[in-house]
Amino acid sequence: MDCIFCKIRDKEIPSSLIHEDDLCIVFKDINPKARVHLLIVPKKHIPTIADIEDGDEKIIGHLIKTAKELGVSQKLSGYRLQFNVGKDGGQDVFHVHLHMMAN
Ligand code: 5GP
Ligand code: ZN
Repeated sequence: MDCIFCKIRDKEIPSSLIHEDDLCIVFKDINPKARVHLLIVPKKHIPTIADIEDGDEKIIGHLIKTAKELGVSQKLSGYRLQFNVGKDGGQDVFHVHLHMMAN
């Protein structure tokens, strides 16, 4: 499978890794649209939020909980969380990721 975020997960291509645990990795967006722009990415390859299945709630909830913890560790007073879903939703990389942005 030719997925750039799977390759980042597997350390086949480098990234500015901020966090890793059993369910997700977090790294800096290569083309930041805010002062802080992180991508919170499940280790499981799920193409889009429109593809999540029963049982994936734990993974998706974990992404949001990880964002909350990063907000504390990165000392952010506020931030935006965004999923782009599908081509028409502005999604370019078809491996689920939660954008975390703060100015
Ligand atoms: P999307 O439009 O799919 O929601 O967002 C994909 C994001 O991934 C974009 O903000 C883009 O800058 C970022 N991105 C794409 N390729 C790479 C990469 O190889 N490394 C990193 N760190 N970010 C990437
Ligand atoms: Zn993938």
